[in-house]
Amino acid sequence: MTQNRSIPMRVNIITMGCSKNLVDSESMMARFAAAGCEVYFDAAGAGFDVVIINTCGFIHDAKQESVDMILEYAEARKRGEMGKLCITGCLSERYREELIREIPEADIVLGCDAFEGLKRELSLTGACCTPGERLLSTPSHYAYLKISEGCDRKCSFCIIPAIRGKHISRPVESLVNEGSLLAQKGVKEIILVAQDLSSYGSDLYNRVALDKLLMKLTEINGLEWIRLHYAYPAGFPDKVLEIMAGNKKICRYLDIPLQHISDNVLKKMRRGINKQKTLELIDRIRNKVPGIVLRTTLLTGHPGETVHDFEELKDFVRSARFERLGVFPYSHEEGTWAYDNLSDDVHDSEKERRVAEIMEIQKEVSAGFNNRLTGTEIKAIIDSEEDEFYNGRTEFDSPEVDNGVLIKKSKQLVIGSFVNLKITGSDDYDLYARPV
Ligand code: SF4
Repeated sequence: MTQNRSIPMRVNIITMGCSKNLVDSESMMARFAAAGCEVYFDAAGAGFDVVIINTCGFIHDAKQESVDMILEYAEARKRGEMGKLCITGCLSERYREELIREIPEADIVLGCDAFEGLKRELSLTGACCTPGERLLSTPSHYAYLKISEGCDRKCSFCIIPAIRGKHISRPVESLVNEGSLLAQKGVKEIILVAQDLSSYGSDLYNRVALDKLLMKLTEINGLEWIRLHYAYPAGFPDKVLEIMAGNKKICRYLDIPLQHISDNVLKKMRRGINKQKTLELIDRIRNKVPGIVLRTTLLTGHPGETVHDFEELKDFVRSARFERLGVFPYSHEEGTWAYDNLSDDVHDSEKERRVAEIMEIQKEVSAGFNNRLTGTEIKAIIDSEEDEFYNGRTEFDSPEVDNGVLIKKSKQLVIGSFVNLKITGSDDYDLYARPV
C-alpha cells in the first residue's frame, strides 16, 4: 500500500500491557497527530497505512498476548490489508533480534521510547508538540500520569529494570505542566504510575520528593482526585501519608504491591524488606490515613516457596484484609536474577492452585468491606453508562482493576461528573447505589 502524501497517514496504535505503556502510546499519538497523521487507538478494521503494536514483555502470559497480536497483524500485512507493521515497547526491547528474524512481515522493530525511530523510518516531518502533550485513550475525565521511568530495585523475578533501565524521575515542573494540560482538557482524576513510586525524585533532588510533587499537583485547578499506584514498601516515604490525610484531593487509596509476607520468600525475592517491617508499614499507613483503602499484589509459587510459606501468605491475606488485591503465579523469566540463580521448583498447576486459594479468601474480605459500605453516602465519579445502569467508582476504586458501583438509572447523570450516592447493596466485587 503506497503512501499518498496529500492524504494524511492513518496510524493505528495497539497498546498491550500496563498503564505506563498506555501513557507511552498516548504520547506517541499526540506526536503523530502533530505530524499531520490521522491517529487511532486500538481501532479494529483494515486499511491503515501504519499499525504500531506497543507491546508488553513482562511475564509469560503478557508476552504471549503480544506475540498473538503481532501474528494477527502479520497475517493482515501478508494479505495486503494494511501498510507498515511496526513493533515497539517492552517485548521488542527485550527480543528485538528474534522478532526481526521471526516476523519478516514486521517493517519496523524498535524498543521502548520508539517515536524518534518511527519518525525517521516513516519519513515524518513536524511532529513537535507541547512537552507532556498526549492524546488520551482513557475516558476524558481520568488519565494516568507517569512520573518516572525505569527501576533501581533488584526484585528476583522482575525483568523490568533490564527492559526499562535505571530509575529516572521526571521533574516536578514538567509533571505539573502535564497535569495542568490534562485538567484543561477536562481530566478530573489523575492516577500516578511508575515502576517504583516510592523512589520518586531521589535521582533528581537527593531525596524522595513524592510529597513535594503531590503538594504541587493538588494546586492544579480542576483536578479533584489524585490516586497513587505502584508504591514500593521498602523506603516508603511516610511524609506522603500526612499529605494524604490532610488533603481531600488525594484519594484515600494506595496501591502498594507487597508480593509476599514470609521472610523466607521475601529474602529470595530480594525485596529489601521483611515481614515485621511490612506489618509495621501497613499499621502506620492505616493509622496515619484513617479509612484508607489498600490495594496490593501478591505472587504465588516463587522458587523456594514452601507449603509453610504459602500458609503464612494465606494467614496474611485473612488478617491484613486488603480491600483490593491481585495475585499472580510466578513466571520463570529468562534474564531475571531468579532465572539465573534459583530453580522453578513449584509446579505451574500448584502455582495456579495457590492463586485460586488466595482469591477464595479475598472474595470474603472484599465482600465484608463492601457490605460495611452499604447504607452509607459516598461521592463517586460516573465512568460510563449501559442500558439500565451507570457505572461509577468511589475514591476507593481505580479504573480497570477495582470494584465498580452500579447505579440504576433513575435520573440523568453526566459521564465524567461527580455524584453523591447512597449505597443500597453490595456483592463480592461490586456496589449498588442510587443518587441522593
Ligand atoms: S520494584 Fe521490583 S517488581 Fe517493580 S519494577 Fe522494580 S524490580 Fe520490578
